Amino acid sequence: MLKVGILGATGMVGQKFIEMLEGHPWFTIEAVAASERSQGVKYGKLGKWKLSTPIPESVKDLEILPVTPEGIGQIDLVFSALPSEEAGPIEEEFAKKGYMVFSNASAHRMDEDVPVLNAEVNWQHSKIVDEQRKRRGWSGAIVTNPNCTTAVLTLSLKPIKDEFGIKRMIVTTMQAISGAGYPGVASLDITDNVIPFIKDEEEKVVLETQKILGELKKPAEFKISASCNRVNTTDGHIETVSIETEKKTDPQNVAEVMAKFQSEPQRLGLPTAPNPPIVVRYEDDRPQPKLDRMEGNGMAVVVGRIRKDEALEGIKYTVLGHNTMRGAAGCSILNSEYFKAAGYI
Ligand code: NAP
Repeated sequence: MLKVGILGATGMVGQKFIEMLEGHPWFTIEAVAASERSQGVKYGKLGKWKLSTPIPESVKDLEILPVTPEGIGQIDLVFSALPSEEAGPIEEEFAKKGYMVFSNASAHRMDEDVPVLNAEVNWQHSKIVDEQRKRRGWSGAIVTNPNCTTAVLTLSLKPIKDEFGIKRMIVTTMQAISGAGYPGVASLDITDNVIPFIKDEEEKVVLETQKILGELKKPAEFKISASCNRVNTTDGHIETVSIETEKKTDPQNVAEVMAKFQSEPQRLGLPTAPNPPIVVRYEDDRPQPKLDRMEGNGMAVVVGRIRKDEALEGIKYTVLGHNTMRGAAGCSILNSEYFKAAGYI
């Protein structure tokens, strides 16, 4: 078993890490860390747990530690669920001290020598960590996963890009409240409401999608128009996508290609890999966050309403994924499993 630590263990994503790592066949949680507000208290006594599952017994007695290598002690890898504004230097400190850091924060995503990894989509980008280690002179490494919206989107785009090519794309998102962390958006702002702006989100969707779907150091060049909205659901981001493809295709073809999509995590049988990674539904009114977000243990994306797009002369569809699972903690765990299977850890 590898010993793992969680930075930001008390937040929305940190709690998902704890829930998803319970009973993991390769990893055991040895350390939990958070801000000074929480340090020194036993995890089970903190009173910040917001998930419907009980706090796992294995973490209840762990004391919440400072987010420093010295504070955490000797372990094999860390998962970071720190706010992006804090994460940059803290994650670098860990990498310098030889730790593998799997991060949810945006701080390092656009660094040329840091992969933004969504394992089924661009596992080949992992090899950039060799350059990162050489260039930065550290033996650890920083590996990021995309923001939640992009994680869901790029998984659905991967088989389309491989099979038909993408000329341009328009995406409109309806993002759950938990995507803003805890306590997130004020209840008076989001109840009976839709907020048509999420700071920096549209820029992230464009740049991260191009980086992930491109080649190493050569982002994909197709144009993306993104509109991001916060809606009154708890978990599960839903996105409508219109694509002009390079090769002509039709909805049935696209549905078949998506439904049979398999990738490296499935071939390797990684513990957190959903199988299938893309679930295609044919009812007129699916996917829906409440009904479909736990598909594949929260790790699959669910695609429906695949149809012709007359305006873009291509196809359009709706995709849904669990933002704190596929879009955050689960994506990081899957990335770390790939790194272990590929011999980087
Ligand atoms: P959150 O609920 O606000 O949790 C933040 C965590 O970081 C808490 O454990 C908090 O500890 C800790 N923290 C805050 N300031 C700190 C500091 N100065 N030093 C050390 N620890 C500090 O946020 P979240 O939603 O879990 O998001 C975590 C990260 O994942 C962010 O970078 C976010 O952008 C990214 N992300 C989130 C989602 C999502 O759906 N929520 C999806 C993808 C990526 P205390 O409890 O002690 O304050």
